[in-house]
Amino acid sequence: MNNKVIIFSAPSGAGKSTIVNHLLGLYPELEFSISATSRAPRGQEKHGVEYYFFTADEFRSMIEEEKFVEYEEVYAGSFYGTLKSEVERIWAKGHAIVFDIDVQGGVNLKRIFGDQALSVFIQAPSVEVLRKRLIGRGTDTPEAIDRRVAKAASEMEFAAGKFDHVLINDDLQKAFDEAEEVIGSFLKK
Ligand code: 5GP
Repeated sequence: MNNKVIIFSAPSGAGKSTIVNHLLGLYPELEFSISATSRAPRGQEKHGVEYYFFTADEFRSMIEEEKFVEYEEVYAGSFYGTLKSEVERIWAKGHAIVFDIDVQGGVNLKRIFGDQALSVFIQAPSVEVLRKRLIGRGTDTPEAIDRRVAKAASEMEFAAGKFDHVLINDDLQKAFDEAEEVIGSFLKK
């Protein structure tokens, strides 16, 4: 099968970036999809690297012109979406597209790409472990941790049965092995 898509979604603290980066290092045919956004660049972010940056007006015009595979107004006035041109750019190289997207976005993309897509939900073994990891990370206030844990619990509930594969990140090495097996066999199809 050509023109493949792999979608990763996870609540924060599940270890998604670590697993996705491991896979990107292992399989040269995987390429990250760069989203378009109307939010301003943060810090050192550059157009065409972290995101394609546009003004809200430019973004709205592109919606009118049907340039997006999918888009969402994630925060009021801040649009995020996947350009059709980005999908074509990656497929033209014979690469498989990797999406790292929130749970709702992941479900939407799976609906759009159907059998061309493998959707993987990465989750922490339990809400308690997730809380411990977020505390250990030391980047959030106790209130923010409560909010993230509550969001994660509802995302886990929402995700159940909607993804092709649920990867429980209990032991990182085991999670790498399982991810390699699932992604490896999808890429061979
Ligand atoms: P941030 O502004 O922190 O980079 O991203 C904010 C949110 O936008 C994240 O939850 C992220 O998943 C979502 N997001 C990023 N790119 C896309 C996209 O292409 N489509 C959709 N629907 N959401 C996106």
